Amino acid sequence: MEIAKRTENGSGQCVHLCRPPPAPDLPMQHRGADSGYNALAPPRAYPAPSLPPAPSRLLPSDLPAPHPPCPGSAAVRSPGSRFASSLRVLCSPPRRSAVFWRPWIDDGGEKEQEAPHNAVEAVPLKQGRSLMDWIRLTKSGKDLTGLKGRLIEVTEEELKKHNKKDDCWICIRGFVYNVSPYMEYHPGGEDELMRAAGSDGTDLFDQVHRWVNYESMLKECLVGRMAMKPAFPKDYHEEKKVLNGMLPQSQVTDTLAKEGPSSPSYDWFQTDSLVTIVIYTKQKDINLDSVIVDHRDDSFRAETVIKDYSYLVHVALSHEIQEDFSVLVVENVGKIEIVLKKKENTSWKCLGHPQENHNSFIPKKDTGLFYRKCQLVSKEDVTHDTKLFCLMLPPSTHLEVPVGQHVYLRLPITGTEIVKPYTPVCDSLFSEFKEPVLPNNIYIYFLIKIYPAGFFTPELDQLQIGDYVSVSNPEGNFIISQLQELEDLFLLAAGTGFTPMVKVLNYALTNIPSLRKVKLMFFNKTEDDIIWRSQLEKLAFKDKRFEVEFVLSAPTSEWSGKQGYISPALLSEFLKRRSDTSKVLICLCGPTPFTEQGMKMLHDLNFSKDEIHSFTA
Ligand code: FAD
Ligand code: NAP
Repeated sequence: MEIAKRTENGSGQCVHLCRPPPAPDLPMQHRGADSGYNALAPPRAYPAPSLPPAPSRLLPSDLPAPHPPCPGSAAVRSPGSRFASSLRVLCSPPRRSAVFWRPWIDDGGEKEQEAPHNAVEAVPLKQGRSLMDWIRLTKSGKDLTGLKGRLIEVTEEELKKHNKKDDCWICIRGFVYNVSPYMEYHPGGEDELMRAAGSDGTDLFDQVHRWVNYESMLKECLVGRMAMKPAFPKDYHEEKKVLNGMLPQSQVTDTLAKEGPSSPSYDWFQTDSLVTIVIYTKQKDINLDSVIVDHRDDSFRAETVIKDYSYLVHVALSHEIQEDFSVLVVENVGKIEIVLKKKENTSWKCLGHPQENHNSFIPKKDTGLFYRKCQLVSKEDVTHDTKLFCLMLPPSTHLEVPVGQHVYLRLPITGTEIVKPYTPVCDSLFSEFKEPVLPNNIYIYFLIKIYPAGFFTPELDQLQIGDYVSVSNPEGNFIISQLQELEDLFLLAAGTGFTPMVKVLNYALTNIPSLRKVKLMFFNKTEDDIIWRSQLEKLAFKDKRFEVEFVLSAPTSEWSGKQGYISPALLSEFLKRRSDTSKVLICLCGPTPFTEQGMKMLHDLNFSKDEIHSFTA
């Protein structure tokens, strides 16, 4: 796959091209456009102590496309922070006790001892109610829905009736699940599940654990789908017929039309040997990381992320293409060109057939996560428990993870797809941060700490070179423009909370001319736990704008540096701004209580909300 980026002069001519597109062939004809996707894309999963796996019978994807979340979902919109934080907190029983509760919102390596820093409430699970126990139950062949294997269409009236603990149905993205058997296994507790009883829990679910792989976990609890409006607009069938006709209006919700960016559109044209799909984003700040392209068999999928919205071109191509393709972004006109190479030099009458959610423009939070299989190409020790994993994207994928964003890695563990978030890093602190050009852009690096008693990381560690792991589209709320015109950048990281700092640091030092200082305060238990210590010290030596300070919570007696935990005293000494008006950003990441306490301390030190970014799930 070739990647290029260019700018256009006023006449629309390409004036700079990092990597030239394939030489143009003789123009043949011009055409394009269609409509409709959102494959209820593979869900996001999290191996909280419990959740159900997948049956061999009917899956959601075997059903007709669901309607969008039922109306009335606003009624279950949670107060957000209260709900989220109640799930995020930890209980404080002794480590690995029988009642240990792991929250849905992953706190990674948090341990109960850390809880007192900010503990609020706990939802201990009964013995025999772990994730493994749930998996076992779902595989037992027991009828968990009470419908003897039938799948039904559920009306809103019917859904409302099932609102009791022992008879609790919840709708998520148009599919209805009987969650009563799952109640006792839910890491967030029964009460949290009951908040969505007999209603559409999509919003509630998305606010807290949108990435949880509920489709796989709750497959045996699937009752059916909501009997409601058709998934596609009225003119969908018409659009289908005119797939190779002029641009149809994309699927835009009313809310979006009122509040969001204007809907992109697309077109396509061809030469003897090439087919070019052009996406007009109608936005200037479009980059190579704004578009994610996947081509599998005859299915072609290009998702463009514009602010908090996602525009999807998703078609089953009418003819075969070669594996590699190029992606070009004409930044100043917001145009994306995807150049496909035909397998045979024949003229295409149409681009293909629309697939689910093709030509839709919807809030990103309403889209499922799309995964592709990536191959493990290397794994290196970085500290005694942390490794640098390098994954290779398939050649038929274009994916760049934006600075400050994370992806989800997915692995089947005892038959259930388990998903956890990880933040890609550069291969080293000295890799030049530049527009990726082949072959670098096909690799994704991760610094991952292996927790011997963890659920996911030991499995990840078991992977052999050449094995596959699924990688999702990126997510996250860090916006690169937060770094523009920055003078002072402060990074507060604890443990693997260092990972989002890597690209931020690299990007800021390379791309922000106004930058005066970058200071990293890196909290770890011992010296042995410090990730990339010598690289950090070398960088500080090489680039005078960068300073690093290590703070250890359990140092040896030889340690002469700072010790302890994040505290107002440490912060006020560390966070010296040049002047009252200088533009400052403070990024924080680490165990949830660390981040929450840090945020509070920063507010108390009078830093404004705009000056603080905390990395969370
Ligand atoms: P878990 O099963 O979640 O266990 C975590 C810890 O709890 C371990 O110490 C384990 O021993 C302990 N534990 C588990 N079960 C029990 C029990 N019953 N009793 C007592 N203790 C128990 N991590 C990285 O390493 N690199 C990254 O780049 C990264 N990026 C992230 C990005 C985001 C947005 C978020 C939210 C998290 C990120 N994480 C990252 C953390 C990561 O997602 C996982 O949480 C982490 O890898 C632990 O997963 P696990 O399943 O192996 O451990
Ligand atoms: P760790 O080794 O357990 O902790 C790192 C340091 O932070 C240690 O010094 C530790 O002290 C201290 N610490 C722990 N809890 C604290 C608290 N409540 N208050 C103050 N200091 C505290 O860290 P880890 O195992 O690498 O875990 C890193 C965490 O970062 C995980 O929870 C992971 O999920 C999270 N993370 C989040 C993102 C993201 O959201 N984008 C990205 C990467 C990682 P002691 O151990 O001595 O108590």
